[in-house]
Amino acid sequence: MKYFTIIVGGGPAGLSAASTLASAKGHLPFMEDKKILVIDEGNSDLNKALLKNFPAVDIGAKGVEVLSSMRERVKTLDNVDFVEGKVVEISGQDGNFKVKTEDGKIFEGEKIILATGFHKFDIKGLNAEILPHAKAPRPGKVMLKVDEKKRVSPGVYAAGLIAGEQTMVAIAMGSGTESALNLLSDLAGKTVIIHDVVKKS
Ligand SMILES: Cc1cc2nc3c(=O)[nH]c(=O)nc-3n(C[C@H](O)[C@H](O)[C@H](O)COP(=O)(O)OP(=O)(O)OC[C@H]3O[C@@H](n4cnc5c(N)ncnc54)[C@H](O)[C@@H]3O)c2cc1C
Repeated sequence: MKYFTIIVGGGPAGLSAASTLASAKGHLPFMEDKKILVIDEGNSDLNKALLKNFPAVDIGAKGVEVLSSMRERVKTLDNVDFVEGKVVEISGQDGNFKVKTEDGKIFEGEKIILATGFHKFDIKGLNAEILPHAKAPRPGKVMLKVDEKKRVSPGVYAAGLIAGEQTMVAIAMGSGTESALNLLSDLAGKTVIIHDVVKKS
């Protein structure tokens, strides 16, 4: 099967992008039968955090638990699949990408969102320009060159730290949502947001 979008990285940026794309079902006709795949090797920075400044959770919540609960919630969505593994190569072009993992599996997707954090970027096959991270607190971190819609190249978007954002959970999640909406907006040819509303009784 071919996925609508393959998201590489299942930290806060990748999971947020997945939630947003999944929630477009029922809002955008072209999303009705689409599935999203998240591939993650499990090394999110959030695993090390003690959160005292992210108001969506209790003060002092452990990042590892927050991430686990977000991941489990995303896994319950019927249009999202989750695979554990390391992506080593992405080939193809917009509408027709092939994503290869270290264990030799190949997944097909129409679009790509890269949400791989800022420690390194070693995925082969993409024509991505790797830059020193402009907003990292310490040297040696990386980001990808992106345009104003966080596109790395046609059909490939970046989100979170690898898109050059500051290292805070709320920013990473906002960035994942933003990149997902940019992707949907590019396809729809107009600005897209996804809101669900409480029904009046
Ligand atoms: C010690 C520490 C404390 C922190 N404390 C706070 C805090 O108090 N408040 C706050 O707001 N923020 C805090 N942060 C920052 C926060 O954790 C990060 O900003 C956030 O996790 C970034 O999200 P991200 O999704 O961009 O990247 P990450 O969370 O790093 O996720 C990237 C994911 O991509 C995966 N990946 C990378 N390459 C591949 C590949 N080739 N194939 C498959 N998967 C891949 C990684 O394994 C990882 O799971 C802290 C960070 C650290 C390290």
